[in-house]
Amino acid sequence: MTEANLTIDVAMGVTINARNARGRAARIGPTLDVILANHDYPPVLEHLLAEALVLTALLGSLLKDPDGQLTIQAQTERGAIDLMVCDYKAGELRGYIRHDPDRLAEVGPHPTLFALFGRGYLAITFDQPATDERYQGIVPLEGDGLGEAAQSYFSQSEQIPSIVRLAVRKDEQGWVAGGIMFQHLPEGEEGRERLHTRLDHPEWPHVATLAGSVKPDELTDRDLPLDDLVWRLFHEEEEVRTLEPVALSKGCRCSPDYIASVIARFPVDEQAEMVGEDGMIRVDCEFCATSFPIALAAVVTET
Ligand SMILES: [Zn+2]
Repeated sequence: MTEANLTIDVAMGVTINARNARGRAARIGPTLDVILANHDYPPVLEHLLAEALVLTALLGSLLKDPDGQLTIQAQTERGAIDLMVCDYKAGELRGYIRHDPDRLAEVGPHPTLFALFGRGYLAITFDQPATDERYQGIVPLEGDGLGEAAQSYFSQSEQIPSIVRLAVRKDEQGWVAGGIMFQHLPEGEEGRERLHTRLDHPEWPHVATLAGSVKPDELTDRDLPLDDLVWRLFHEEEEVRTLEPVALSKGCRCSPDYIASVIARFPVDEQAEMVGEDGMIRVDCEFCATSFPIALAAVVTET
Protein backbone atom coordinates (compact mmCIF):
# COMPACT_ATOMS: atom_id res chain seq x y z
CA MET A 1 0.00 0.00 0.00
CA THR A 2 1.30 3.47 -0.84
CA GLU A 3 1.29 6.31 1.62
CA ALA A 4 -1.37 8.11 -0.35
CA ASN A 5 -3.84 5.49 0.82
CA LEU A 6 -3.66 6.35 4.49
CA THR A 7 -6.52 8.81 4.21
CA ILE A 8 -9.66 6.89 3.26
CA ASP A 9 -10.99 3.32 3.26
CA VAL A 10 -8.14 2.22 5.46
CA ALA A 11 -7.40 0.98 8.98
CA MET A 12 -4.06 1.24 10.70
CA GLY A 13 -2.60 -0.14 13.92
CA VAL A 14 -0.48 1.82 16.37
CA THR A 15 1.67 0.82 19.32
CA ILE A 16 3.11 3.08 21.99
CA ASN A 17 5.30 0.62 23.81
CA ALA A 18 6.66 2.98 26.42
CA ARG A 19 3.06 3.62 27.53
CA ASN A 20 1.92 0.00 27.24
CA ALA A 21 -0.73 1.03 24.78
CA ARG A 22 -1.94 -0.03 21.40
CA GLY A 23 -4.43 1.59 19.11
CA ARG A 24 -6.33 1.45 15.87
CA ALA A 25 -7.40 4.24 13.54
CA ALA A 26 -9.79 3.83 10.63
CA ARG A 27 -11.63 5.97 8.12
CA ILE A 28 -14.17 4.92 5.49
CA GLY A 29 -15.71 6.97 2.69
CA PRO A 30 -16.39 5.45 -0.75
CA THR A 31 -16.80 2.03 0.89
CA LEU A 32 -19.46 3.50 3.13
CA ASP A 33 -21.24 5.10 0.18
CA VAL A 34 -21.37 1.73 -1.59
CA ILE A 35 -22.78 -0.06 1.45
CA LEU A 36 -25.36 2.64 2.22
CA ALA A 37 -26.40 2.91 -1.44
CA ASN A 38 -27.56 -0.72 -1.35
CA HIS A 39 -29.99 0.09 1.42
CA ASP A 40 -32.53 2.84 1.26
CA TYR A 41 -32.37 3.86 4.90
CA PRO A 42 -33.56 7.13 6.39
CA PRO A 43 -30.66 9.48 7.35
CA VAL A 44 -30.77 8.55 11.02
CA LEU A 45 -30.10 4.89 10.17
CA GLU A 46 -27.46 5.75 7.60
CA HIS A 47 -25.66 7.69 10.29
CA LEU A 48 -25.96 4.80 12.74
CA LEU A 49 -24.77 2.19 10.24
CA ALA A 50 -21.85 4.43 9.28
CA GLU A 51 -20.83 4.62 12.93
CA ALA A 52 -21.26 0.86 13.34
CA LEU A 53 -19.17 0.14 10.25
CA VAL A 54 -16.23 2.28 11.30
CA LEU A 55 -16.37 0.61 14.72
CA THR A 56 -16.39 -2.75 12.90
CA ALA A 57 -13.29 -1.67 10.96
CA LEU A 58 -11.49 -0.70 14.18
CA LEU A 59 -12.34 -3.96 15.93
CA GLY A 60 -11.82 -6.11 12.83
CA SER A 61 -8.33 -4.74 12.35
CA LEU A 62 -7.45 -6.17 15.79
CA LEU A 63 -7.76 -9.70 14.35
CA LYS A 64 -4.43 -11.39 13.86
CA ASP A 65 -5.78 -14.29 11.82
CA PRO A 66 -6.11 -13.25 8.14
CA ASP A 67 -9.19 -15.51 7.86
CA GLY A 68 -10.65 -14.19 11.09
CA GLN A 69 -14.05 -12.56 11.26
CA LEU A 70 -15.34 -9.88 13.59
CA THR A 71 -19.07 -9.46 13.97
CA ILE A 72 -21.00 -6.86 15.89
CA GLN A 73 -24.67 -7.54 16.37
CA ALA A 74 -27.21 -5.40 18.17
CA GLN A 75 -30.05 -7.40 19.65
CA THR A 76 -33.01 -5.41 20.82
CA GLU A 77 -36.22 -5.56 22.77
CA ARG A 78 -39.00 -3.14 21.90
CA GLY A 79 -36.77 -0.75 19.96
CA ALA A 80 -37.42 0.96 16.63
CA ILE A 81 -34.58 -1.26 15.39
CA ASP A 82 -34.99 -5.05 15.52
CA LEU A 83 -31.51 -6.04 14.50
CA MET A 84 -28.25 -4.54 13.32
CA VAL A 85 -25.41 -6.69 12.03
CA CYS A 86 -21.99 -5.64 10.72
CA ASP A 87 -18.97 -7.76 10.03
CA TYR A 88 -15.36 -7.59 8.95
CA LYS A 89 -13.32 -10.21 7.16
CA ALA A 90 -9.93 -9.57 5.55
CA GLY A 91 -10.59 -5.86 5.12
CA GLU A 92 -14.11 -6.39 3.78
CA LEU A 93 -17.01 -4.71 5.54
CA ARG A 94 -20.76 -5.21 5.29
CA GLY A 95 -23.80 -4.41 7.39
CA TYR A 96 -27.55 -3.96 7.58
CA ILE A 97 -30.26 -2.77 9.94
CA ARG A 98 -33.76 -4.22 10.29
CA HIS A 99 -36.22 -1.67 11.61
CA ASP A 100 -39.81 -0.57 11.97
CA PRO A 101 -40.27 2.56 9.76
CA ASP A 102 -43.30 3.83 11.72
CA ARG A 103 -41.55 3.61 15.06
CA LEU A 104 -38.39 5.11 13.62
CA ALA A 105 -40.31 8.12 12.35
CA GLU A 106 -41.20 8.92 15.96
CA VAL A 107 -37.65 9.05 17.33
CA GLY A 108 -36.51 12.33 15.75
CA PRO A 109 -33.22 13.24 14.05
CA HIS A 110 -30.78 12.75 16.98
CA PRO A 111 -32.10 9.79 18.94
CA THR A 112 -30.42 8.19 21.92
CA LEU A 113 -29.34 4.56 21.71
CA PHE A 114 -32.29 3.73 23.95
CA ALA A 115 -34.77 5.37 21.55
CA LEU A 116 -33.34 3.32 18.68
CA PHE A 117 -32.73 -0.01 20.34
CA GLY A 118 -34.98 -0.05 23.41
CA ARG A 119 -33.43 -2.51 25.81
CA GLY A 120 -30.62 -3.38 23.45
CA TYR A 121 -27.43 -5.36 23.71
CA LEU A 122 -24.32 -5.28 21.60
CA ALA A 123 -22.67 -8.65 20.98
CA ILE A 124 -19.10 -8.48 19.75
CA THR A 125 -17.71 -11.74 18.39
CA PHE A 126 -14.14 -12.48 17.36
CA ASP A 127 -13.72 -15.64 15.28
CA GLN A 128 -10.19 -16.77 14.53
CA PRO A 129 -10.29 -20.12 12.71
CA ALA A 130 -6.48 -20.49 12.46
CA THR A 131 -6.18 -20.82 16.22
CA ASP A 132 -9.74 -22.11 16.73
CA GLU A 133 -10.46 -19.14 18.96
CA ARG A 134 -13.95 -17.76 19.25
CA TYR A 135 -15.01 -15.37 21.91
CA GLN A 136 -17.96 -13.16 22.41
CA GLY A 137 -18.77 -10.37 24.80
CA ILE A 138 -22.13 -8.71 25.34
CA VAL A 139 -22.75 -5.22 26.69
CA PRO A 140 -25.91 -3.17 27.11
CA LEU A 141 -26.47 -0.58 24.38
CA GLU A 142 -26.34 2.41 26.68
CA GLY A 143 -24.71 5.78 26.64
CA ASP A 144 -24.23 8.35 23.95
CA GLY A 145 -23.31 6.16 21.06
CA LEU A 146 -21.84 2.94 19.79
CA GLY A 147 -18.33 4.14 20.63
CA GLU A 148 -19.26 4.41 24.28
CA ALA A 149 -20.90 0.97 24.23
CA ALA A 150 -17.76 -0.56 22.68
CA GLN A 151 -15.64 1.20 25.27
CA SER A 152 -17.64 -0.40 28.06
CA TYR A 153 -17.37 -3.76 26.36
CA PHE A 154 -13.59 -3.65 26.66
CA SER A 155 -13.46 -1.98 30.04
CA GLN A 156 -16.12 -4.14 31.68
CA SER A 157 -16.21 -7.52 29.95
CA GLU A 158 -12.58 -7.67 28.94
CA GLN A 159 -11.06 -5.65 31.77
CA ILE A 160 -8.95 -3.75 29.26
CA PRO A 161 -9.03 0.02 29.83
CA SER A 162 -10.04 1.43 26.45
CA ILE A 163 -11.08 4.61 24.75
CA VAL A 164 -13.13 4.72 21.54
CA ARG A 165 -14.01 7.83 19.54
CA LEU A 166 -16.18 7.73 16.42
CA ALA A 167 -17.39 10.48 14.10
CA VAL A 168 -19.66 10.50 11.05
CA ARG A 169 -20.27 13.25 8.53
CA LYS A 170 -21.97 13.66 5.17
CA ASP A 171 -20.96 16.36 2.70
CA GLU A 172 -21.03 16.95 -1.05
CA GLN A 173 -18.49 14.13 -1.54
CA GLY A 174 -20.63 11.62 0.31
CA TRP A 175 -20.41 9.89 3.66
CA VAL A 176 -17.26 9.67 5.72
CA ALA A 177 -16.80 7.96 9.09
CA GLY A 178 -13.65 7.89 11.15
CA GLY A 179 -12.62 6.44 14.46
CA ILE A 180 -9.81 5.69 16.84
CA MET A 181 -9.52 3.20 19.63
CA PHE A 182 -6.70 2.97 22.16
CA GLN A 183 -6.21 0.31 24.79
CA HIS A 184 -3.94 -0.27 27.69
CA LEU A 185 -1.98 -3.49 27.44
CA PRO A 186 0.23 -4.53 30.34
CA GLU A 187 3.04 -5.58 28.04
CA GLY A 188 2.48 -2.96 25.37
CA GLU A 189 3.66 -5.26 22.60
CA GLU A 190 0.96 -6.94 20.59
CA GLY A 191 0.52 -10.66 20.83
CA ARG A 192 1.69 -11.33 24.37
CA GLU A 193 -0.41 -13.19 26.85
CA ARG A 194 -2.33 -10.92 29.16
CA LEU A 195 -1.77 -12.26 32.65
CA HIS A 196 -2.98 -9.41 34.72
CA THR A 197 -4.26 -5.93 34.01
CA ARG A 198 -4.07 -3.19 36.52
CA LEU A 199 -7.00 -0.92 35.82
CA ASP A 200 -5.22 1.91 37.64
CA HIS A 201 -2.06 1.71 35.55
CA PRO A 202 -0.45 5.16 35.78
CA GLU A 203 0.33 5.31 32.05
CA TRP A 204 -3.24 4.80 30.99
CA PRO A 205 -4.89 8.12 31.98
CA HIS A 206 -2.18 9.91 30.01
CA VAL A 207 -2.87 7.89 26.85
CA ALA A 208 -6.64 8.21 27.33
CA THR A 209 -6.40 11.99 27.73
CA LEU A 210 -4.35 12.40 24.56
CA ALA A 211 -6.50 10.00 22.52
CA GLY A 212 -9.65 11.62 23.89
CA SER A 213 -8.51 15.03 22.66
CA VAL A 214 -9.17 14.01 19.05
CA LYS A 215 -11.78 16.18 17.34
CA PRO A 216 -14.66 14.78 15.24
CA ASP A 217 -13.46 16.96 12.33
CA GLU A 218 -10.07 15.28 12.44
CA LEU A 219 -11.57 11.82 12.43
CA THR A 220 -13.61 12.64 9.32
CA ASP A 221 -11.02 14.78 7.50
CA ARG A 222 -10.46 13.04 4.14
CA ASP A 223 -7.19 14.95 3.68
CA LEU A 224 -5.63 13.97 6.99
CA PRO A 225 -3.66 10.70 6.75
CA LEU A 226 -4.20 8.39 9.72
CA ASP A 227 -0.52 8.44 10.68
CA ASP A 228 -0.57 12.26 10.82
CA LEU A 229 -3.75 12.11 12.89
CA VAL A 230 -2.12 9.77 15.42
CA TRP A 231 1.03 11.87 15.43
CA ARG A 232 -0.96 15.00 16.23
CA LEU A 233 -2.31 13.28 19.32
CA PHE A 234 0.91 11.63 20.49
CA HIS A 235 3.69 13.84 19.12
CA GLU A 236 5.28 14.23 22.55
CA GLU A 237 5.81 10.50 22.89
CA GLU A 238 9.29 9.10 22.40
CA GLU A 239 8.16 6.46 19.99
CA VAL A 240 4.87 5.78 18.21
CA ARG A 241 4.96 2.80 15.87
CA THR A 242 2.47 2.25 13.11
CA LEU A 243 1.60 -1.22 11.82
CA GLU A 244 0.93 -2.27 8.24
CA PRO A 245 -2.30 -0.57 7.10
CA VAL A 246 -5.27 -2.60 5.86
CA ALA A 247 -7.28 -1.42 2.84
CA LEU A 248 -11.03 -1.52 3.48
CA SER A 249 -13.76 -2.27 0.97
CA LYS A 250 -17.33 -3.47 0.78
CA GLY A 251 -17.48 -7.22 0.58
CA CYS A 252 -20.07 -9.96 0.84
CA ARG A 253 -20.16 -13.74 0.41
CA CYS A 254 -23.50 -13.77 -1.38
CA SER A 255 -22.56 -14.64 -4.99
CA PRO A 256 -25.09 -16.77 -6.95
CA ASP A 257 -22.56 -19.64 -6.90
CA TYR A 258 -22.23 -19.46 -3.13
CA ILE A 259 -26.01 -19.38 -2.66
CA ALA A 260 -26.46 -22.31 -5.05
CA SER A 261 -23.93 -24.26 -3.00
CA VAL A 262 -25.89 -23.52 0.19
CA ILE A 263 -29.17 -24.61 -1.40
CA ALA A 264 -27.43 -27.76 -2.66
CA ARG A 265 -26.95 -28.87 0.97
CA PHE A 266 -30.73 -29.12 1.49
CA PRO A 267 -32.58 -32.39 0.74
CA VAL A 268 -33.99 -32.52 -2.80
CA ASP A 269 -37.63 -32.44 -1.64
CA GLU A 270 -36.95 -29.29 0.40
CA GLN A 271 -35.22 -27.70 -2.58
CA ALA A 272 -38.34 -28.35 -4.64
CA GLU A 273 -40.48 -26.60 -2.00
CA MET A 274 -38.31 -23.48 -2.26
CA VAL A 275 -39.12 -22.99 -5.93
CA GLY A 276 -41.46 -20.04 -6.51
CA GLU A 277 -44.15 -19.49 -9.13
CA ASP A 278 -41.59 -18.28 -11.65
CA GLY A 279 -39.67 -21.53 -11.36
CA MET A 280 -36.80 -19.91 -9.47
CA ILE A 281 -35.58 -20.14 -5.89
CA ARG A 282 -35.27 -16.60 -4.50
CA VAL A 283 -32.68 -16.00 -1.83
CA ASP A 284 -32.24 -12.62 -0.18
CA CYS A 285 -28.99 -11.19 1.06
CA GLU A 286 -29.88 -8.67 3.74
CA PHE A 287 -26.36 -7.24 3.71
CA CYS A 288 -26.68 -6.30 0.04
CA ALA A 289 -30.46 -5.80 0.02
CA THR A 290 -30.43 -7.99 -3.06
CA SER A 291 -32.54 -10.94 -4.07
CA PHE A 292 -30.88 -13.71 -6.06
CA PRO A 293 -33.02 -15.80 -8.37
CA ILE A 294 -31.45 -19.24 -8.54
CA ALA A 295 -32.63 -21.84 -11.06
CA LEU A 296 -33.10 -25.26 -9.48
CA ALA A 297 -31.20 -26.72 -12.44
CA ALA A 298 -28.18 -24.65 -11.41
CA VAL A 299 -28.37 -26.14 -7.92
CA VAL A 300 -28.81 -29.73 -9.05
CA THR A 301 -25.79 -29.60 -11.35
CA GLU A 302 -23.72 -28.51 -8.35
CA THR A 303 -24.67 -31.47 -6.18
ZN1 LIG B 1 -24.55 -9.93 0.06
